[in-house]
Amino acid sequence: MSRVLHRNLRADPVLAATGDGLWLRAAEGWGVIDASGGAAVACLGHGNRRVIQAMTAQAERLAYAHTVFFSCEAAEELAELLVGEEPGGLARAYFASSGSEAMEAALKLSRQYFLEIGQPQRRRYIARHQSYHGNTLGALGLGGNMARREPYAPILADCFSHVSPCFAYRGQGEGESDAAYVARLAAELEDEFQRLGPDSVIAFVAETVVGATTGCVAAVPGYFRAVREVCDRHGALLILDEVMCGMGRTGTLHAWEQEGVAPDIQTIAKGLGGGYQPIGGVLAGRRVVEALSAGSGGLKHGHTYQAHPVACAAALEVQRIIREEGLLERVRSLGERLGAGLRERLGHHLRVGDVRGRGLFWALEFVEDRATRRSFDPDHRVNDRIKEAALRRGIAIYPMGGTVDGTRGDHVIVAPPYIADAAALDAIADRMADAVQDVFGTSA
Ligand code: PLP
Repeated sequence: MSRVLHRNLRADPVLAATGDGLWLRAAEGWGVIDASGGAAVACLGHGNRRVIQAMTAQAERLAYAHTVFFSCEAAEELAELLVGEEPGGLARAYFASSGSEAMEAALKLSRQYFLEIGQPQRRRYIARHQSYHGNTLGALGLGGNMARREPYAPILADCFSHVSPCFAYRGQGEGESDAAYVARLAAELEDEFQRLGPDSVIAFVAETVVGATTGCVAAVPGYFRAVREVCDRHGALLILDEVMCGMGRTGTLHAWEQEGVAPDIQTIAKGLGGGYQPIGGVLAGRRVVEALSAGSGGLKHGHTYQAHPVACAAALEVQRIIREEGLLERVRSLGERLGAGLRERLGHHLRVGDVRGRGLFWALEFVEDRATRRSFDPDHRVNDRIKEAALRRGIAIYPMGGTVDGTRGDHVIVAPPYIADAAALDAIADRMADAVQDVFGTSA
């Protein structure tokens, strides 16, 4: 009997034994293509020799030094690589051990910014329904994933409120133009600022491309420019959570590059270290950094393992490989192939309501009725059954619920490593189609 406090205490988990390139193998010997890199994490696949050597060399040189006393070369070089050229005005980086920790740091940094500039009355965050920003209490309170929030609602802080996400498949009216939809959402955000009192708001927080809760939902054109304008009008910050969609996953290093806006603060994680080490990060804009420099002189936040040398060395090598091997270009071109493959095989399926995505970040949303977009009853466990069928067909994909209102609705995410080739992507699309057929018993 296992003594580990697993997510599921009623069934023994599969023991993953080895990983090599796109493949994950169980202790019993069978293998699957890791078609989602876990939760869109393993961007370079498994067993990358360069990353392993960088980590080993770092561990041999220096495994740990507390940041109260020291920085380390790997952290400095990683920060230089990410913000040395100040992309979008982002000028400094802080490294944590997970996406949730990065979000907590972003919340505190944004609050500190307003303390430094003499606006202590600002204490509110506006986020969006059907969003996920992490499982620690601050990040969970910020997020709008009702299923994950609900059990803990009584112990979450009261400084968070939520507006509608930009989710065309479920939120855009029949015949409503993109411009009209954007204007409607921007008006809703403006109303929320007014309801709270505009000078009480610290930031509007959003995932640039929504990941877990609704599945690879990019905003319609113009949305982020419109919400940026609302934030600017009221002196609030824009915080973009790119924990899942960032670091190349959508075809540009930062997903916001495709939106014509840059955030004041950004979080990153999964693709930063590609799963070789636990690492997340906060990138802080010049305006925020300058306020801290001129004021108290530093970030009033920290963790024992922040900027961990081995984690930073792993992430530095992952990011160097992405640059040197031209993987962003590859994500863009292979992403089109994956999207086309999924659409061709499943776009007309009776139970597939939507096939959506960007780069190597794709989702399928399953519905009981395509015409009305009615979702399945959660008791059908559709996304779990698709995940299980996909595993039997030899691919690991990421299942999630909450597509409709944060509690119901099914989708799965397909997010292969950037090193996948065309044949692997075609195999993933084929196996995905087979898995859908296994669950619904129909191919169309
Ligand atoms: N933000 C987003 C958008 C995420 O998808 C996640 C994790 O799935 C998090 C934050 C939290 O990251 P972590 O699980 O590393 O704490």
